[in-house]
Formats: sequence, C-alpha cells, structure tokens
Amino acid sequence: MRRPFIAGNWKMNSTRADGIALVQGIASNLPADCSVEVAVCPPSIYLDAIVSAAGDSPIGVGAQNIYFEASGAFTGEVSAAMLKDVGCQYVILGHSERRHIFGESSSLINKKVHAALAGGLIPIVCVGELLEERESNKTADVVAEQFYGSLAGVSAEQMETIVLAYEPVWAIGTGKVATPEQAEAVHADLRKVIATRYNSAVADKVRIQYGGSVKPDNAAELLSQPNIDGALVGGASMKADSFLGIIAGA
Ligand code: PGA
Repeated sequence: MRRPFIAGNWKMNSTRADGIALVQGIASNLPADCSVEVAVCPPSIYLDAIVSAAGDSPIGVGAQNIYFEASGAFTGEVSAAMLKDVGCQYVILGHSERRHIFGESSSLINKKVHAALAGGLIPIVCVGELLEERESNKTADVVAEQFYGSLAGVSAEQMETIVLAYEPVWAIGTGKVATPEQAEAVHADLRKVIATRYNSAVADKVRIQYGGSVKPDNAAELLSQPNIDGALVGGASMKADSFLGIIAGA
C-alpha cells in the first residue's frame, strides 16, 4: 500500500507572517488520525521559520530547489546539507518552472537528485509534457525521457524512496486540470517505465503525485485513480481551507 502524499508548492509566494499563519492553520485543522503524508514547500528564505511553525505537527517541510555541490563559490545557491540543517525533509526537483524558465536539463536535475539523496532528503521529481507535445502524441515519450534522464544512476533502493510528480505543463496554474482518465493513463505508463527500468516490486512502491490545478473539488476523483498516490499543489496550497480540502479528498 502506498501512503497518499499531498505536498504544497508555494513557489515564490507568501510572506514570513502569512506562511507561519498558513502552516499553523493547516496543523491545527488536520484530523488527528490523518493517514495522509502532508508537506509544505515554502521559498527557501522562510524554511527555517516554517519548520519552527510546523513544530511537532505531522506536517513535513520541503524546499523547491537545491544546487548539487556540497559547498563553495556558488553565489545564490543552497545545498542539500543546508536544507537538512534547517529541518527540511523533502526537495522538489525538476519542476517545469525550473525546466522551462530556468533552463534546467534532466542531466542537471539528475545531479541534484543524487545530491539530495546523499544529503538525506527525499526528492520529489517532476516530469510532464508541454501542450504541443501532448497534441502531437509525445506525452509518453517526453515523460519517459525525463524519467530516465533525471533518475540516471539511481539504485532500486533509492528509487523506492523517491516521489515522482506528473505535472502536465498545460495544467499548471491554468485552471485546466487533466481529466482523471488522462492523468491515470500517464501515471500507469510511468509505473510501467519504473518496472522496466527496475522491477515491478519497486514500481509498486513508488508514489506518483499528480500536479496541475488540483483543487478541493477535483482532488477526490483524481486521487481515487489506482496509480495516483497524491498531489503536488500550487495555487490551492496557499489557503489552509483549500489545502485541507485536498487532504480530505485523499
Ligand atoms: P497549480 O501548480 O496547482 O497552481 O496548478 C502545481 C505545481 O506547479 O506544482
């Protein structure tokens, strides 16, 4: 059984005070018997404050990026060890905004994945196709290529701990959610790719989140699909009510 995992990607949003209030609002309204794994991923400047605000609640904290080197002359960058030092458990890697706005390649993301694993962080590795790639029937190829490139050299044991997020780029921040059938088809393909690369035991363990305009009113249907194991939520993770509504849907 794969434990459902809902993570909020705050992107470059919030203030320190709003972020603290948000995480406290989520923590105080989580059901006591919550079986869902929950995390928030604030901007790196607020990680320390958000880890403190999450306190001993079950909410985990993740970053949105790292650099792959351990330390040194890399102006503006943050290492895996620094994230671990402030109490982070996760790091989002290969988000489409990193791939497409900042030009990150799967080979760069691969170095970051290895740095995250070596530093004891759980990578949430994103893959997903552009609209024109979907329209030209390239979705399966693009997603498989990003998977192989971003996860090269990852052992089976490491793979079982990694979380994947399928995020069709055309559904991110657009309000255009993939239908449960469209998302499930890609998740099922991705699980076959994992089984081919590793084996079916590994494929059965890896959690694959869906991301792209997940809201309280579409979460339950998406998450009821057999290969959708959680959600990576952008816009709707910025309000406690809507994020809690998505958690309830899982
Ligand atoms: P969205 O973003 O929920 O605002 O579409 C999802 C993401 O980019 O992770």
